[in-house]
Amino acid sequence: MVGYLYDPIFTLHETGNHIENKNRVMFINDMIRSDFSYYPIEVSSYDKRDLYRIHDDSYVDWVEEGYENGVRMILNSDTILSPKSYEVALTAATCTKNVIDLFKRKEINTAFLNLRPPGHHAERMMGQGFCIFNNVAMMAKYAQDAGYKKVMIIDFDVHHGNGTQDIFYKDDTVFYFSTHERNNYPYFTGSEEERGEGRGLGFNLNKPYEDNIEDEEFLALYEDLPKDFDFDIVLVSAGYDLMKDEAISSANITFAGLERLVRKIVDFSKDKPLAFLLEGGYNLDSLVKSAEITFGVLSER
Ligand SMILES: [Zn+2]
Repeated sequence: MVGYLYDPIFTLHETGNHIENKNRVMFINDMIRSDFSYYPIEVSSYDKRDLYRIHDDSYVDWVEEGYENGVRMILNSDTILSPKSYEVALTAATCTKNVIDLFKRKEINTAFLNLRPPGHHAERMMGQGFCIFNNVAMMAKYAQDAGYKKVMIIDFDVHHGNGTQDIFYKDDTVFYFSTHERNNYPYFTGSEEERGEGRGLGFNLNKPYEDNIEDEEFLALYEDLPKDFDFDIVLVSAGYDLMKDEAISSANITFAGLERLVRKIVDFSKDKPLAFLLEGGYNLDSLVKSAEITFGVLSER
């Protein structure tokens, strides 16, 4: 059975009528509760010092104290801070530990994490792009603590996960693979030349694509998933803003294309633990349908 993680705390990061708002996770939750059976995963938050392993201490402390000090936004990056945002973002990143614990106990082998704020743009020094702390990076660290030493991260959000790349750029124990639109946010990262550094050289693979991409060309990029990285777990930054009805990109991925993508990822992951973490996706109808397709395929695993 698929493990499903959600908690109303994720609605307390208040962003008003910003496209990254609480309706995203609420609508997905309503659909999953009515359409699927699942293994419910408890949401709890852990020590903020865990975040120091992926973010600079001073940045974490600055977010924690920010709202009291009048900070309402992270830089000029369109990332809102509300009174509860720190607590919610801390929870979103650290509750991933509960999923790892269930994998370790063999209670589940597949999970879908319906959480926000998203995380993949949050770099070591600073959040941005609607992201405060990097959820998938935190989950990778917890996975390694539990003995899943080699972590494969696949990021299909239409935007490059500059934050995840940044955090693991010199690391040969985490392989980061990203497909994303070339001429889109965050603009200055995500080229094919960025292959990692030092020990991490060869463990970062970007597959940028041009505007208006369609299913066949997009799916072909996944033929380049690494064949010789002997991973212990697969974590997916599941950003649904690559779908054709999304205003935030020009990508034209159909629901049939998405289903094929999820099947490819399931096949690639073999029998290893597999978790999908929500990143982008802002057209609510498209987002809910996309989550439904994902959950359906994962339920067959
Ligand atoms: Zn995105």
